[in-house]
Amino acid sequence: MNISIIGRLTGPKGDIAYQILSKIAPQFPLVKFNIAGGPVSSRFKALASNNVIFYGFVDDVPKVIKGADLVIGAGRVAIEALQLNTPVLAIGEKQYVGILDKNNIVQAQESNFGDCALDEFHDFNQISSDLKDFIQFNLKREDLSAVVNQYSPANIMPKINQVYSHALADVTFAKKKEVPVLIYHRVVNEKLTDSKFNVYITKEKLDWQIGFLKRQGFNIITFKDLANGIKVKKPIILTFDDGYEDNYLNLLPLLKKHQEKAVIYCLGNRSIQNNIWDEKLGEPSANLMSDYQIQECHNSGLIEIASHGLKHQHLPDLSEAEVKEELESSKSNLEKLINDKVVSFAYPYGDYGKREEILAYESGYDFAIGTVNGPLNLTDNYYAIRRIQIFPSTKKFDFWKKTSGFYLRLCKLKAKDF
Ligand SMILES: [Zn+2]
Repeated sequence: MNISIIGRLTGPKGDIAYQILSKIAPQFPLVKFNIAGGPVSSRFKALASNNVIFYGFVDDVPKVIKGADLVIGAGRVAIEALQLNTPVLAIGEKQYVGILDKNNIVQAQESNFGDCALDEFHDFNQISSDLKDFIQFNLKREDLSAVVNQYSPANIMPKINQVYSHALADVTFAKKKEVPVLIYHRVVNEKLTDSKFNVYITKEKLDWQIGFLKRQGFNIITFKDLANGIKVKKPIILTFDDGYEDNYLNLLPLLKKHQEKAVIYCLGNRSIQNNIWDEKLGEPSANLMSDYQIQECHNSGLIEIASHGLKHQHLPDLSEAEVKEELESSKSNLEKLINDKVVSFAYPYGDYGKREEILAYESGYDFAIGTVNGPLNLTDNYYAIRRIQIFPSTKKFDFWKKTSGFYLRLCKLKAKDF
């Protein structure tokens, strides 16, 4: 039987290898311990024997793994061995996990197969007895392919991208106390007289507001810009929920005129053509954008198309599977439509809890946006981004206040909604 120890022979890892080779290897004279790693210092050289063989640093680690009946290692070595379907005895700088099976695999993953933990715990008697069991009974290999899949590039890449997006956003938001993210819905030609929820702004007023922001030295950006690493001095984000047709008819021309940007949250269920969820409650009917109009908005380069779920539902009322479906299918439907990535999600009704935050992260979004709840500093939680509401009645002075950079703190002091 061949057992391979793969890893550095210095520092804490070196000490563990030394303990195994000096205390445990002599108990198993018929087992070959192959050590791939270095440097092979004199204290290790003194351990070399018929069943302890040092190979130094090896280029072809997979070959070593394939030739072994059991691999001893942590971190990446453990993952590679699992991928090659070779049994693993996971031991890292901090912990001894054991021979990996379905019972300890989650704990193993949490500690990166023994390398990260708060407390240090290595029981060499236990290792010896586990090895004895393994050798004597030739324990059957457990199928851990589901775990292996978690480390596949298809699963890992979106997570790596999220880490980058958040790090880049951290840089943009660094030292900025209050970055305004404004929430709008419809953009209409004339004031509505029959609107119940007042979810609109007139084109004329929005024209003035965008001009005002430019005069104030704001840089209007999108969440996608953040994910791409934009760095600007005075960032502000304009968001429009639901994806109304009037956004295409009225907002897009305004953005073109000012050469400024916005984010529009559209529904992923492309068969819903108007605001049925509000209409039921007495709001006048309003058309949503067609596929073509969404594509035109995206192609303008001025609008980030993002997701507002499939069917505008209260996510906390749904089962976990249903929330996942809302998040994942809306993302993939919209991505197919615009042939580009969708990076942000707006919770319908601004309704969400911890479960929705986690699922938004797991569905691959870089940012998830609520309405009037969420921490002051955006960097605290990219899945609970708060916004500031702009109403048809918001006057010029109020608009200045809302975008002033102290508005949210003022609201907190007064215990008032944004
Ligand atoms: Zn909405």
